[in-house]
Amino acid sequence: MNGFRRIAGIIFAGLLLTGSLAAGEVKNVIWIIGDGMGPEAMGFFMQGVRYAGLEAYPGKVSNLETLMNGGEWGLFFNNTHDTVVTDSAASATQMATGKFSRPEFVGMDYNSQPAETLLELARKQGKSIGIISDTYITDATPAGFTAHVQNRNQKMEIARQIVALAPEVVMGGGQKYFTTGENKKLLRQAKKKGYRVALNKKDLAAVKSGKVLGLFAPEAIPMSVELDQYPAIPSLAEQTQKAVELLSQNEQGFILVVEAGKIDWAGHANDAGAWFHEMKALDDLLGYVKSYADKNGETLVYLNADHDTGLGAFTYRHLGKEKAMQKTAQGEVLYGGDTDYASFDAFRQFAQQKKSLYNLELELKKMPAAQLTPQYLQKRLSEALGYEVDINEFENLSDVSGLFKQLNKSRGLVWATPNHSSLPILSVAYGQEADEFTGVYHNTDILPRMKNALGWSEE
Ligand SMILES: [Zn+2]
Repeated sequence: MNGFRRIAGIIFAGLLLTGSLAAGEVKNVIWIIGDGMGPEAMGFFMQGVRYAGLEAYPGKVSNLETLMNGGEWGLFFNNTHDTVVTDSAASATQMATGKFSRPEFVGMDYNSQPAETLLELARKQGKSIGIISDTYITDATPAGFTAHVQNRNQKMEIARQIVALAPEVVMGGGQKYFTTGENKKLLRQAKKKGYRVALNKKDLAAVKSGKVLGLFAPEAIPMSVELDQYPAIPSLAEQTQKAVELLSQNEQGFILVVEAGKIDWAGHANDAGAWFHEMKALDDLLGYVKSYADKNGETLVYLNADHDTGLGAFTYRHLGKEKAMQKTAQGEVLYGGDTDYASFDAFRQFAQQKKSLYNLELELKKMPAAQLTPQYLQKRLSEALGYEVDINEFENLSDVSGLFKQLNKSRGLVWATPNHSSLPILSVAYGQEADEFTGVYHNTDILPRMKNALGWSEE
């Protein structure tokens, strides 16, 4: 290195160092949590978009991939105080408070002490706060950021605590927790606190400023794969866009937490098509959020998950020698001849799926066994999947659950569990101070890193 280049190098390094020391440049945080979104769900979706020639992605690049390529990645563990595997309540609590907790605890540390959450801290800093979930708003993930109860099932109490905290934006499903039983008058109280209540897309569009309580379904918002039957429900991306429009009116900035909550449900159901559609709903929202962060310049986007659900992936299967003895022109057998390594067609099929397989399974299980003829099952499955399924090779058709397992196998899909796993989680940070979130960490380290990014940490 010659003298000039050495000096230039030192100056450049100095600039970089100054840049990295000037923490706290973040004014707004948009934190997106894909519930149950293990790295395999992210890979599955991005690969489908890249290689399957899907209509919705003529450019073959997902917003997720674009965000990842422009951002900083980290890998983190999510174990609780005393368990290797976590649930959404403990995970949200640990992420929101930086304290170790236990499964099913909400906003409480492992000693059952209420712990201050990121949103409560943000309120003290004069920022506006918002919470969105595409399940229901009293669900464990939004609750971990807004409430303090011993168990995630205390949904009525969680609803009351949300109204007491009064985030400027609250949106999701779960109307009934604000309108029935002991919470009959909660909606009225919320209105007294200045909330505009939005029950559908039209109501939401009419809100231009102030506080909004959006309750778009009596319980959970339906699975994304079936959402086209509910045109009055705003999409997760539309909810997020409105939330940012309202929250960004505060000069001091805002913190918005958005849960894409049904990736987890599709994982529990081991339903890869529904998984794909939930990832697509998340991807739509990422497209909006990235463009906002690019324009705004003072916003940190942080995308992660609370835990993995299902451990699902493609695998290969043996078809039996006689079925797939493909030979080269020279007569040599290709890769053992009897192995099916899964085809990209599967992704095209997922994109066509019309119904959650979990819901179909529930319906079929309620029917008298005599009605479940091979013809009938074939018809129902084909309608749900959006393509003609061949169940000729399936065995023991009267076992409905077994039918869905065979369907997965026939498409080269393997799921290790109908539950959560300990798979480490990927995080993607994009925009201001994204480099706070690199390396291997634990979900209790997120809050301290977030405070650094926001300039809330003491020097
Ligand atoms: Zn779950």
